[in-house]
Amino acid sequence: MSRIKQGIFFISISLLTGSTQLYAAEHEHEEHGAHVHGEAQLLIALEGSTLEIEFLSPAMNIVGFEHQSTNEAQSHAIESAIEALKQPGLLFSLPPAAKCDSVSIEVESPLKEHGEQDHEHSNEASLDLEEVTHVDFTGHYSFHCAEMSKLDSIVIEIFNQFPGTEVIGVQSVSNQGQQKIELTPDHSTLEL
Ligand SMILES: [Zn+2]
Repeated sequence: MSRIKQGIFFISISLLTGSTQLYAAEHEHEEHGAHVHGEAQLLIALEGSTLEIEFLSPAMNIVGFEHQSTNEAQSHAIESAIEALKQPGLLFSLPPAAKCDSVSIEVESPLKEHGEQDHEHSNEASLDLEEVTHVDFTGHYSFHCAEMSKLDSIVIEIFNQFPGTEVIGVQSVSNQGQQKIELTPDHSTLEL
């Protein structure tokens, strides 16, 4: 079974068991390690009135580097990126008729915001930097959609927000079935 099929399988099982957690697919990615710069992934699950979206992206696409900040400009880039990732409205345009409200947002950043770095252990941090080759940002978003039947498309604004993103592999699953599609800046609407 391919990794992608396994991912869909786990998502399907999650739906069947009433849980829309998408962590299984995420963990596979972490185990796999390497990613391709410019490529990101979205996992989307619709169940009942719940829409879950998981965004997984190389830090390169988001901030333009994959190491802890070494200057003020990089600290600022990380801070701005995390701020943007915490605003699903900047990343996804949902049809207003679907009446979707954001109910939870979780953003995981491997890179620290300005001021969070542990200066007492700067030597250890330097060692870590040499060992790390790739790092990812993760965003997990849950919405409650009062009119789920009106959720017929999602415009992915990530391309505008993070122009380093060239292609997003999307896997979606709903009661209507599953689909796997690649979106680009010119074709950024996911039809559901
Ligand atoms: Zn990388």
